[in-house]
Amino acid sequence: MGNTIKRLAVLGSTGSIGQQTLEVVRALPHHFRIVGLAAGKNVALLSKQIDEFKPSFVYYQEEKAQTQLAKDDYELLSLEEIVSHPQVDTVVIATSGTSGLRPTLAAVKAGKTVALANKESLVMAGELIIQEAKLNKARILPIDSEHSAIWQCLRGENQETANLILTASGGPFLGYSADQLKEITTEQALKHPSWQMGKKVTIDSATLMNKGLEVIEAHWLFNTTFDNISVLIHPQSIIHSMVEFIDGSVKALLSYPDMRLPIQYALSYPERLPNPHLPQLNWDTINKLTFEQPDFDTFPCLKLAIEAGRKGGTYPTALCAADEIAVDFFLSQRIKFTDIAHLVERILELHQSITNPTLEDIMTVDTWAKQKVQELTGG
Ligand code: MG
Repeated sequence: MGNTIKRLAVLGSTGSIGQQTLEVVRALPHHFRIVGLAAGKNVALLSKQIDEFKPSFVYYQEEKAQTQLAKDDYELLSLEEIVSHPQVDTVVIATSGTSGLRPTLAAVKAGKTVALANKESLVMAGELIIQEAKLNKARILPIDSEHSAIWQCLRGENQETANLILTASGGPFLGYSADQLKEITTEQALKHPSWQMGKKVTIDSATLMNKGLEVIEAHWLFNTTFDNISVLIHPQSIIHSMVEFIDGSVKALLSYPDMRLPIQYALSYPERLPNPHLPQLNWDTINKLTFEQPDFDTFPCLKLAIEAGRKGGTYPTALCAADEIAVDFFLSQRIKFTDIAHLVERILELHQSITNPTLEDIMTVDTWAKQKVQELTGG
């Protein structure tokens, strides 16, 4: 089995998805080996990960820590160098926010298999990334549970005629009124009922922005029109998404809600591997699966995201960038929960979209939207 070990580079290794990726690797050492690690701010954890997994290449964002981390047994490289390195088979993009965009594009240009957890890459630059992936025969494998579910349901099917049904837990505030949402604290918003995730995506799940971004991603990943993608609230998070085919048959993917499972599938594809650390569904405790339509008025972020996706151009970039800063401001208690949607809506109104944007256009709009949110909030 020695020659089938996949060599992985994990970008964002100290974040939630990054740490869970390393848990999968730790559980399956005969299948995966870490050759590259990259992190943003958590130097203490990165050091531990380096000691344990002994990567050949390391990237660290902060210059101060570079000297602290400099050692003989690995090279300090740039993100672009790591993702395109000949010793790397699969690049796991586990960073959150707009910083995932450039390395994703670089990995795709290098023809790598990209296990993608970063939402912003496809939302902001879906067209560019998909084009480059085709051109360079790179493969993009989704890590997000919904896209992993759709991908698995579509295996062996003709996807062009399929309707994609993305399920959503509804977040911690499912059933709340618009008035109740105004008083939400950061603590309440950070308590997700079914998933263990990073802070940004947890808040995005509470506003349903997360599901809107996933609709845009699904549009690019599965080459599906927005008319053929819908969202269905399913609070138990047991069904991770569904696909409805032309004859009315519906396939669903069910599992215990644990991100390590879709991570592992993206890494082991096309194989499935047994992993004793992964929890299984217990049918003794599951007595119902429920569904309801999303409330677009109470959770306007979902509507704003789908509209931005339909309009295309740089609207999704403006949406993403505005949301990133708005969520930051909510987490630091500078704005209210409901202000996140207000700010994103205002940015989309002010935005002048660029059609067929280049990477530079996208980065310009990203900067513009982030600055505009700062201005609008008086910072
Ligand atoms: Mg998801």
